[in-house]
Amino acid sequence: MNYELVIGLETHVELSTESKIFCSCGGHSAANEPNDCVCPACSGMPGMLPVMNKRVVELAVTAGLMLNCDINRYTTFDKKNYYYPDLPCAYQITQLNHPICTNGCVTLKTSEGSRDIRIKQIHMEEDAGKLVHGGKYSYVDFNRTSVPLIEIVTQPDFRSAEEVVTYLNKLKSMFRSGGISECEEGAMRCDVNISVRPEGSEEFGVRTEIKNMSSFEAIERAIRYEAQRHIDALDFETEELVQETRRFDDVSGKTFAMRNKETEADYRYFPDANLMPIIIDDEWLEKIKANKPAALDEKVEDYRLAGISEKEIDMLVSNHKISKLLDDVVNMGCDAKDAATWILTDCIGVLRKDGKTMDELTISSEKLFNIIKMVNDGTVNRTAGKKILIAVVENDVDPISYCKEQGLDKKFDASIVEAVVVKAIEQNPQSVQDFKNGKTKALQALFGACMKELKGAGDPAVIKALLEEKLK
Ligand code: ADP
Ligand code: MG
Ligand code: ZN
Repeated sequence: MNYELVIGLETHVELSTESKIFCSCGGHSAANEPNDCVCPACSGMPGMLPVMNKRVVELAVTAGLMLNCDINRYTTFDKKNYYYPDLPCAYQITQLNHPICTNGCVTLKTSEGSRDIRIKQIHMEEDAGKLVHGGKYSYVDFNRTSVPLIEIVTQPDFRSAEEVVTYLNKLKSMFRSGGISECEEGAMRCDVNISVRPEGSEEFGVRTEIKNMSSFEAIERAIRYEAQRHIDALDFETEELVQETRRFDDVSGKTFAMRNKETEADYRYFPDANLMPIIIDDEWLEKIKANKPAALDEKVEDYRLAGISEKEIDMLVSNHKISKLLDDVVNMGCDAKDAATWILTDCIGVLRKDGKTMDELTISSEKLFNIIKMVNDGTVNRTAGKKILIAVVENDVDPISYCKEQGLDKKFDASIVEAVVVKAIEQNPQSVQDFKNGKTKALQALFGACMKELKGAGDPAVIKALLEEKLK
């Protein structure tokens, strides 16, 4: 029999906030020692109370707007109770009854054409800590406890692994370009719910849930394996399918049962009385909307219209910092295509040469704007502009004073340029002779000598005109 694959995703995304969701501990990073980023609140000391991080609400609403959701103006938190050593309070603060966003939709472009995936809801919650197993002991690291997450739950609308990966890539680009999350390794984790049904059937089959997957490649492999397992179970009665939670083993490429699927009742959910309901009024919502970055599709279209290449667009939309830098200098008045070249070729080139990554770019939009402007209004030529850019990217100098200090300003005193031209003619009699004999190429050699003398800062048109004049 032919079967149709049915998949629904629950995706957890770590938000890019400066502090945790319910306390003021800073965001953790791989550079931290275990338990560096903890306080009495996020390590579950008795009597500590959560304080809501406003930014989390704003980022969750922004994500909801990007995914075309309804934004619920009244939203509350619930306690999800379970015991595990990485959960110091023995409950996770999450949203069950009044999630912040519902009823969204995202359109995917796949090899099969356009597909709409419905978003059931987005809710806010805190992350758990981490257990580290070593030898005879297990250790607990609370750096990650109370790190803010949003969980995006789709309807069971995916029909192939390809669609799932397309969706995840789209979320990643969207969230990066929107400043919602950097989506680094491990900051985006999925629970993949899978079932199969005979083609044409309206009814869903028994579903299993593969927990906590973060590599897209592994997700694809897990889906393929699990779908085949379901089909074999139905076709050959190899086993009875039960609704359960499974894990994917990367080495064997197989999934293994972890536990029977918990139901809502297992978690004894109840409203968290320590957190007031959050009311999102019109004024606040409008403010969030006004600050929302342009939707990804819209942005890509704008970049395309500006003549930016597809490869450069890919780089831009996958890096919020870089696309924001571009948008900022464009808003200041730079041409988008020209500015994209300055950023993606020149700035990134300097970083690469220094063995750095794109994320290490710290040039301010003001400084970049000043450099581009100096080149465009003819204050310096592009070679000199590039020289200034290198100094700014590497040492964060002020471009205008650096240009003056280094004498890169090409509006040199006319008498200086004239002296340089006269000197070049005097010192290169062979080239002069060649020129007189009709070798136009000789002019290029003389021009090069002048440019060298002016350290690349001369105005090519002025030098050329002067040379021709003197030679005649
Ligand atoms: P639960 O409350 O048990 O977690 P939800 O209704 O929240 O169940 O669904 C969890 C995820 O499972 C959703 O992404 C949903 O789309 C998906 N899902 C539900 N039923 C199926 C099914 N039969 N096959 C595949 N995925 C499913
Ligand atoms: Mg669920
Ligand atoms: Zn804390």
